[in-house]
Amino acid sequence: MLGAIINLFYPALCRVCSKKINEFDRNICDDCVKKIKERLPPFCVKCGRQLKGSPELITTCPDCKKDELYFDRAWSACCYDELLKDLIHDFKYKKITSLSTDFTALIIGFMKKYNVGKDAQMILSIPMHPNRLFKREINHADILARALGRKLGISYSRNTLKKTKDTPLQSKLKREARIKNLYSSFSLKDTSIVRNKNILLVDDLFTTGSTVNECSRLLKNSGAKYVEVITLARGDSA
Ligand SMILES: [Zn+2]
Ligand SMILES: [Zn+2]
Repeated sequence: MLGAIINLFYPALCRVCSKKINEFDRNICDDCVKKIKERLPPFCVKCGRQLKGSPELITTCPDCKKDELYFDRAWSACCYDELLKDLIHDFKYKKITSLSTDFTALIIGFMKKYNVGKDAQMILSIPMHPNRLFKREINHADILARALGRKLGISYSRNTLKKTKDTPLQSKLKREARIKNLYSSFSLKDTSIVRNKNILLVDDLFTTGSTVNECSRLLKNSGAKYVEVITLARGDSA
């Protein structure tokens, strides 16, 4: 109610096209949301990579045939193209945290379509090492997971996963080095929390998948039953 009144006097403007938005809790107008490209099947049934072929195709991609993967399935909702890249940058570095509402709507739309997380009992997010959190001030994955948990009515266990080793930024490393860099860099506050649980693991981006895979390795080794990964975006347009 209060938000609606404030919006009457100080209308929200779309971050992309600067047009007025009627909903006070949104940052992107309907027309610009439509410009964000949804990822379309067929997806690799393991890592969620977009494959070429008929949408009904059920197969894994070549990478998943050679890598050891610990998550049961990974999904990414949108294509990581220029528009979304800018918005994610605003979210992470300009700290426009209210974008989580717009991002969550995109993720939930995708999840409903493909039945993602339908048996999830708990949401976890990719943690940040305290040193990096101190510098960045916000953990974007945490904000996204919290908003998602609230909307889906699934409990979000915020401090269960911890980053205990302060490793160099993944984006500066090659694939092999990424895997080595992350090895044993996460820990769990209490393994009993995840035992026999269906877990939905949340992050903003899926790049090589080594971060979510290392977290999944820890979760599975600690007795988690099923680990499904959902990210807002992935840059792998087929
Ligand atoms: Zn717009
Ligand atoms: Zn794959």
